Amino acid sequence: MKGLTVSKIGGNIAESPEKLEAFCKEFAASPSPKILVHGGGVLASEIQKKFGMVPNMIDGRRVTDAETLRITVMAYAGWCNKNIVATLRKYGCNAIGLAGCDASLIQAGKRPPLNGTDYGFVGDVTPDCVNTAMLETLLSAGLVPVLCSIVHDGKGQLLNTNADTVASSVAAAMGAGLNCVFEHAGVLLDQNDPSSLVPELSSEDFKAMKAAGTISGGMIPKLENGFKALGQGASSVNIGKTILKI
Ligand code: ADP
Repeated sequence: MKGLTVSKIGGNIAESPEKLEAFCKEFAASPSPKILVHGGGVLASEIQKKFGMVPNMIDGRRVTDAETLRITVMAYAGWCNKNIVATLRKYGCNAIGLAGCDASLIQAGKRPPLNGTDYGFVGDVTPDCVNTAMLETLLSAGLVPVLCSIVHDGKGQLLNTNADTVASSVAAAMGAGLNCVFEHAGVLLDQNDPSSLVPELSSEDFKAMKAAGTISGGMIPKLENGFKALGQGASSVNIGKTILKI
């Protein structure tokens, strides 16, 4: 679909009432066709702690046993998804909140144990997991899909996935622009200095900045997903105000 953008918001935005309000106001005002993707990791960890559980994260990925899966579904597909939809509706956006199992928008396989680590009920999403025809149908009806990163395997099993991977796979499959909104204005040379924004980033720059430690933590898989999306058909990728170039 022409002019389609896929936006992804991080937990920092979704779980801050002021930031979510500001994001939704701007997002709703854009007249182009659009899809919003989100996770809910901040809330899931908060609920886990309230139940006396210790969130188990490996390289930013949540190890998801049966109990953790129930909590992630409640957090992502429940509160986060419906709270975002209600906020968008306030600004006149015709949002419809969905998980990957709804209308089978995203069907993925369970990740096999990786280097001896079993991540549990975690799925790996790629562009061919995305039901582009169903998304086109929703968009053509004037709806704005709000997708949380809970998918299914087609055999009755829900799976937790990474929201950045869902967003980049949806953008690649739909040939859309990808826009990742998170706590900073974009990729920064110094995370304490908002004026140190990197306007354009190539994969070579990324490798060098990663090796130097300038890019770290959650930004590493975010940029890996972004470059992958560009190679797989996304029309453009923005990490905040930073434009990725292959
Ligand atoms: P999300 O909020 O979308 O879940 P993540 O927390 O996974 O995003 O990744 C974004 C985080 O990456 C930023 O909040 C910041 O703490 C970190 N980060 C590491 N290196 C950089 C960098 N060079 N520029 C901006 N953020 C960076």
